[in-house]
Order: sequence, then C-alpha cells, then structure tokens
Amino acid sequence: MSSRTSEPAPGQADAATAATLAPGVTIGLLGGGQLGRMLGFAARAMGYRIAVLDPDPDCPAAVIADRVVAAAYDSVEGGIELARGCAVVTYELEHVDAALVDAVEAAGVPVRPGAFALRMTQDRLAERRFVADLGIATAPWREVTDEAGLHAAAADLGTPLRLKAPVGGYDGRSQVRIATRDEIRGALERLGRPPGTRLLVERELHFAAELSVITARALDGALAAFPVARNRHDAGILVESVAPAPVDAAVAAAATALGARITEALGAVGLVTAELFLLRDGSLAVNELAPRVHNSGHWTIEGARTSQFEQHVRAICGLPLGDSAAHGPTAMVNLLGTGALREARLEGAAEALADPLVHLHLYDKRRVFERRKMGHLTVAGATNVEVGLARGRAALAKLRWA
Ligand code: ADP
Ligand code: MG
Repeated sequence: MSSRTSEPAPGQADAATAATLAPGVTIGLLGGGQLGRMLGFAARAMGYRIAVLDPDPDCPAAVIADRVVAAAYDSVEGGIELARGCAVVTYELEHVDAALVDAVEAAGVPVRPGAFALRMTQDRLAERRFVADLGIATAPWREVTDEAGLHAAAADLGTPLRLKAPVGGYDGRSQVRIATRDEIRGALERLGRPPGTRLLVERELHFAAELSVITARALDGALAAFPVARNRHDAGILVESVAPAPVDAAVAAAATALGARITEALGAVGLVTAELFLLRDGSLAVNELAPRVHNSGHWTIEGARTSQFEQHVRAICGLPLGDSAAHGPTAMVNLLGTGALREARLEGAAEALADPLVHLHLYDKRRVFERRKMGHLTVAGATNVEVGLARGRAALAKLRWA
C-alpha cells in the first residue's frame, strides 16, 4: 500500500534536485544501536558515509561508521563534533537531548525527521496532547504527580491502569501495571521516579491486536506507507511482527490514514512509526509514536520492495521514495538474550537456517543478558503470515546463548 501525495508542481523540480544530498556525503547518526547499524548498512549500500554518536565506542553501529563520536545523548559538544562534516543528521532513538539537536541545527546541519517531531514524541505527555489535538483516539489518560492523582484517575478511568514515566522508557521499562485500586499504594515507588515527577497514567485496553504503521515523508511532502504490521509484545517488549497484517482492508486503510495525518502534522522528513491498538469494536487508538525506523519494520529488509532503512535514507537525503509494497507475507521474530550477563555466543545458527525461508540478523552485541534485543529472524515467502510466523518460531527455538 503505497500512496503518493503532493507531487512537486512543475518548476519545483530544480529546487528538489538542489536539495538532494547526493551519495558520497556523510550522514550523522545519533545513536549507534541495532537500528543505527541497519540504517548504516542501507546508507553505505547507496554510497553514503556514516558518522555515529553513541556513548559506547563499541556500539553495534560502530562497524559501519567512518567515524564514531563517543559521547552521551545530551552532550552538546558531542553533537557539534558529530555535525562537523555531516550533510544531514538523523537519530535512531527519541531520547536525544533537545539542546544537542539545537546545537547541530545551529551549526547549519539539518536534523531529520526534525526537532519538532523529536520534541513531540520524546515526552509521552506532549505526545498525548499532540495526538489529542489531531482528534485521534488514545487510551483514556491523565497526568498525575502523586498518589491522590492516581486515586482520582482510578475513579475516572477505572482499573487496570498503566502508569508510565513520560521520558526515557522503552521495551516496557519505565511503566508499571496497577491491577486494582489496592495497588495504587506503592505504585509510584515501583516506578522509581523522584516524588513530584509528571507521570502519565492510562487505562489498560483489552485490544484485539497491536498494529503499527510506518510512514515515510519525503522532502517534497510525498508520502509512502509500508503495509501495516501486526505485532505481539511480551511484558512490553516486541517479540513478533507480521506483515501485511491479516486485518480487514478497512482497518488497514484507517491505520494508514492515521499514519499519514500524524506524519504530516509532525512535519517529518523521514520515517514516522505509529504504534496502534486495534480495539474489539474495530476502532484504532494510538499507543506511541516514534519518528524513526522501528523494530516492527525489520520485516521490510527481505519483505518489502524498499526496506524501512533505505526509505529513511532516501527521505532524509532528499531523494524520491521507493516503492514500499510487500513482496508477500512476511514474519519477523526477535531474538532476545537469556540468562545472566556474559559474553555473547550464539549456538544453533545452522539448525535455524535449515529452513531456507529463514534469514538471520545478529546485531553483534558483545554481551548478552536476559531479554536484551540481540537479533531477529525474518521469514519471507511463506504462503501466509501465520505459516511464516510458525516457521520463524520453529527457527528461533533452535537458537540458544552458550
Ligand atoms: P514502550 O516505550 O516500552 O514501548 P509502550 O507504552 O509502547 O512502552 O508499552 C509497551 C507495551 O505494553 C505495549 O506495546 C502494549 O503491549 C503494552 N501496553 C502499554 N500500554 C497499554 C495499555 N494502555 N493497555 C494495554 N496494553 C498496554
Ligand atoms: Mg512502545
């Protein structure tokens, strides 16, 4: 499902060409995790060079970088050093300090998808207000700072509730479940944020499925959405995605339309991911937004005509977008760490790859620990997504950490 809008008017083509950051220039990357690594593979394949800022000089993206700036995500000096020699800077995580982004822009280097998109999505409360202003549904929520606020929210919204820290959370960290009103006492302590911190509390929804839609927006405003993915999380961490999601065409169209509206309202140049809940009445609610490539889009590497990583590079470099259609049913299963912190050594790769439809991606993390995202498997070419998922799970079961 690929849609294009606002083609450049005749006469604008020269301006578009002038804005193109041609292959050969350097892309700066804030964050050097697995997303940055895969983004870097795509960028390098197209002839771009890469500079990475990450606190860890041995981060997963280091091997694809021409230059690594070892600095924290709030280091203004690090941001300025990264920007030096870069034609554009992008990010693989939302938790980049606004001051760093401002410093990069002040140095004359564009930050894409953009500072506004980052600001609206790095704080869950700002994000909720932004989504509400668009008239788009979310789980009913309140801002709270203390236990009295939680009691009032429980009275208004009912239980169970999810209490979430507005900044810094990912993979289900930084949130606690409040099953009943009896569990309000101690919930703030369980979340572990200093007293008085602004928090988001929301109703837990009994959704039919979790979906996500990844929308690319080009410099000229053209949009291209990937087919909607159906995702499964385990204790807050993504474990499986399939695409195109086996949902009614009307649901997929509604999800795609939501993604387009959000992406345009963010003014993003690059990718925007919207995590959605499909409710039992067939309606959609936004859970979370990310102005970047996303774990639920890893299936596109083998499963779509253009991968999410290539699409992001094309967008931020002012190139035309690629076709985002799926080749066919595709499934992705995440390979998580198990056990205590130790050196990462994977066993069973040959057994997992005995299924010729299975592809292995490893992020080259030096250390493994319980539930760390270490890699993923993609199954492309199965007769339908459920068969693909079953084959992905079977392959995953052959892998273990020594
Ligand atoms: P994170 O930043 O860790 O991804 P999310 O808010 O996306 O945080 O929550 C992670 C997962 O927890 C969701 O994908 C979903 O499975 C579950 N979850 C979060 N909020 C709710 C909710 N209000 N109702 C039901 N499930 C939820
Ligand atoms: Mg999430």
